[in-house]
Amino acid sequence: MIKPRNILLKEGSMTEQKATHIYWHNGAITRNERERLKGHRGFTIWFTGLSASGKSTLAVATEVALHERGIHTYILDGDNIRHGLNKNLGFSPEDRTENIRRISEVARLFTDSGIVNLTAFISPYISDRLIARKISEKESFIEVFVDCPLEICEQRDPKGAYKKAREGIIKEFTGISAPYEKPEKPEIHLCTDQLSVKDGAQLIINYLEQNNYIQIQ
Ligand code: ADP
Repeated sequence: MIKPRNILLKEGSMTEQKATHIYWHNGAITRNERERLKGHRGFTIWFTGLSASGKSTLAVATEVALHERGIHTYILDGDNIRHGLNKNLGFSPEDRTENIRRISEVARLFTDSGIVNLTAFISPYISDRLIARKISEKESFIEVFVDCPLEICEQRDPKGAYKKAREGIIKEFTGISAPYEKPEKPEIHLCTDQLSVKDGAQLIINYLEQNNYIQIQ
């Protein structure tokens, strides 16, 4: 069961506790009980990397592989979330931090509900990903570094975003006009310029099996 907790977040208007006189209401069904009902654990697979490195592609391929095993999954995808929940956020450092904070909270709820959630967000700052990890329950957070050289990402450019960033049409674009901080100790490191999508997803499945997140088949 999730509990109220006090995680040190970056100070800012978005993280200020505005509501007062609020009380935590405990439920009667625990996360373990929900997981038992489903027959598998709930956890978060957090994909991070440059735009076009392959986060969404790998999240989809991994989700298919998990779904075929009868595992309940859900993808939280950067652009999709910016259409709804986070539509009021842009790409300034503050908004990126708030984007990731909200997603981290949503991921935590999915994990608590017993679902395997796969998040595909550039999430460029180490400090924000650390907060995502802290918000998540212990051992429920698997960081996947989707590593691909900028030049290759730029050649792929599936949405034409790099071209627009080079032309100055898109501002604060990661890798061009905004930084990307590489993970120091990701659970999984995939070089997508050297691996096929199928092999990348298989390496994630192998990790999940070897570390008892899912049953070995
Ligand atoms: P991101 O979500 O990181 O912005 P996308 O998944 O949207 O990236 O786009 C990655 C592009 O790179 C896709 O067109 C995909 O087909 C291609 N691609 C080529 N090789 C790979 C690979 N090994 N893993 C993932 N994507 C790859």
